[in-house]
Amino acid sequence: MKPSLLQWEPAAIERRLEELGGRAFQARVARAELLGRGKLDYEGMSALPKDLRRTLATEVPLLSSIEKLRTWSSDGACKLLLEFPAQSQSPGARTVPAQVETVFIPPHERGSTKGATVCVSTQVGCPVACPFCASGKAGLQRNLAAHEIAEQFAHARALGPISRAVVMGIGEPLLNLDNLLAGLSLVRSELDLGARKVTVSSVGFPERVRRAAQNDPRFQLAISLHTPDQEQRDFLVPAMRGVPIEDVLAAGDEWFHATGREVTYEYVLLAGTNDSEGHALRLAERLRGRRATVNLIPYNPIEESTFGRPTPESVARFAGCLERAKLVATVRWSRGVDGQAACGQLRVSNASGAPPA
Ligand code: SAH
Repeated sequence: MKPSLLQWEPAAIERRLEELGGRAFQARVARAELLGRGKLDYEGMSALPKDLRRTLATEVPLLSSIEKLRTWSSDGACKLLLEFPAQSQSPGARTVPAQVETVFIPPHERGSTKGATVCVSTQVGCPVACPFCASGKAGLQRNLAAHEIAEQFAHARALGPISRAVVMGIGEPLLNLDNLLAGLSLVRSELDLGARKVTVSSVGFPERVRRAAQNDPRFQLAISLHTPDQEQRDFLVPAMRGVPIEDVLAAGDEWFHATGREVTYEYVLLAGTNDSEGHALRLAERLRGRRATVNLIPYNPIEESTFGRPTPESVARFAGCLERAKLVATVRWSRGVDGQAACGQLRVSNASGAPPA
């Protein structure tokens, strides 16, 4: 397959366009139509001459990915199953196509003028294997390339305007940092996604957090902490086994100093596992003196696990404990739960769903 539009270096695609009878600036026009307006075929790009559109359609495929399936949740969130071709050029690579999920989450309030939040994936499968998360159940297949990260934004933009992005789909973003940075830089200006509008969630490998902090990361960082207790973290976030929680927090502090943007600590609330008052107090102790927000995520059920979803009362109790200890606590009741599109529920799935009436 010929390289698709976003696979080309900006200067190279300008030259290619000229070879094809177009003008250099039209490469930018095509990118703006794709990412900024969500036009998923050249035919609809009225800002380009007809002949050029026809030539581009055969010479520079607009996308490398295809949408295989769309699943709507009753709250309006829409999950897209996207398929990318196998990376057959790299030795030992799988020859099967790669599939990931991307979620388009419209604003809560009907008639809102805000755009949607898009949740993107960075890897095919996930190497982290948290026991409460569906994304790691099949292990890691491969990293997504920069253009594959960017193309998810185009598919989502075709559903409506976007005003925020969360890199909280399938994969551990900081293990694919270079492609993530390149992918975000492809879409940033077309979608007006400044640093405060993009949040990347990671389990917080300390050296990766430091490296990201030194690489002009134009995003906010969320670190999945999930417990104040070392032994329990080793169980809940197995990829971090043996990495002291203090080292993770110290890397978070360095991030704050380097970027001026506070870290959000994510905490999945698992009923009867990590949601006691003692956990809240020990968490507050760990975070004492730090400028940080804790984002509580009540567990979203997945098939292969027996963790329990906490009640609204116990979530409020946990949040109250943190607030009394002077921490900022927010609660994320995930959207898209019935469409299997919520935090932790993304995987390669073939379940179908109809759009909401
Ligand atoms: N790999 C990244 C992104 C994960 S998704 C990371 O670990 O941070 C974003 C958040 O959802 C993470 O905090 C993750 O731990 C959490 N999560 C995973 N499974 C969940 C589930 N079943 N219910 C609620 N949150 C979940």
